[in-house]
Amino acid sequence: MQISQDRLDQLLQQIRPCTRNGRLASYIPELNKADPDTLGICIIDMDGNMVSSGDYETRFTIQSISKVITLIYALESYGDRLFTRIGVEQTADSFNSIIKLETRNDGKPLNPLINAGAIATTSFIVESEGREGIKNLSALLKALAKNPELKINEIVLNSEKRTGDTNRALAYFQHGQKIFDASVEDVLDAYFTMCSYEVQVKDLANIARIIANNGTDPETGEILFSSKTAKMTKTIMTTCGMYDSSGEFALSVGIPSKSGVGGGILSVVPGKYGIGTLGPALDEKGNSAAGVPLLQRLSEDYDLSIFS
Ligand code: GLU
Repeated sequence: MQISQDRLDQLLQQIRPCTRNGRLASYIPELNKADPDTLGICIIDMDGNMVSSGDYETRFTIQSISKVITLIYALESYGDRLFTRIGVEQTADSFNSIIKLETRNDGKPLNPLINAGAIATTSFIVESEGREGIKNLSALLKALAKNPELKINEIVLNSEKRTGDTNRALAYFQHGQKIFDASVEDVLDAYFTMCSYEVQVKDLANIARIIANNGTDPETGEILFSSKTAKMTKTIMTTCGMYDSSGEFALSVGIPSKSGVGGGILSVVPGKYGIGTLGPALDEKGNSAAGVPLLQRLSEDYDLSIFS
């Protein structure tokens, strides 16, 4: 069934009050300046039909959603070698937790979609490619978003670098454990840079649509990454993409997704849709307080769960 503009507008209006149930991220001071009432969505199907609603033009930083791009790049470039350094299990801890680095998995982070794991994934790339690594990651982001104009938000980047001591702790701990050899500051520079790209929900929908089409651009037929990488990415997004409520989200929504503390969520409906949502007010787990119920209603109304 096609998702109609009217239905999407209606749904967005119904869900908008949920923005009041959340709070802006404040640990990166610059994120605390967003408008908490914002709610926007963009959905693109495989034929290129696009519907958008609400505050779909608002720009925001991609934050943790960039971990999906880094994962795709690393899987394409280094394949299964990645998993010598990182696991694929859920943590049940918050996205920037350090505790399991010491207590589980030989010092290896549990999965590539939490901070510790994304830092380890980035270290793989920086170790092999040096400064070129950031360029290559940025190029992949722009290609998948079909938007060569994407820019880094330097104010957020500096805010994050200034206040990123927990990420520094995660990186130094792993360096100390010999999980990686690259310079910690170079790795963090690449990690923070990727988190600070400014996007709109349409960019997220475009990225998601290519993952939904197993790595091939449905418009041009260009293969951007392999179907093996797409399959692994969708799987890890399903099990680990929504912080420590990934299980609950799989039950209630059932769409492989990745959220970020900027309030964005990238969602992949395999073979059907790429979806981007934005709602910067976050629930206690760090997911968009209105974005999650919006996706839940969409999933129920249009039977989008991959488990149905
Ligand atoms: N840049 C953020 C951090 O590292 C990303 C966190 C997130 O979006 O989950 O703290």
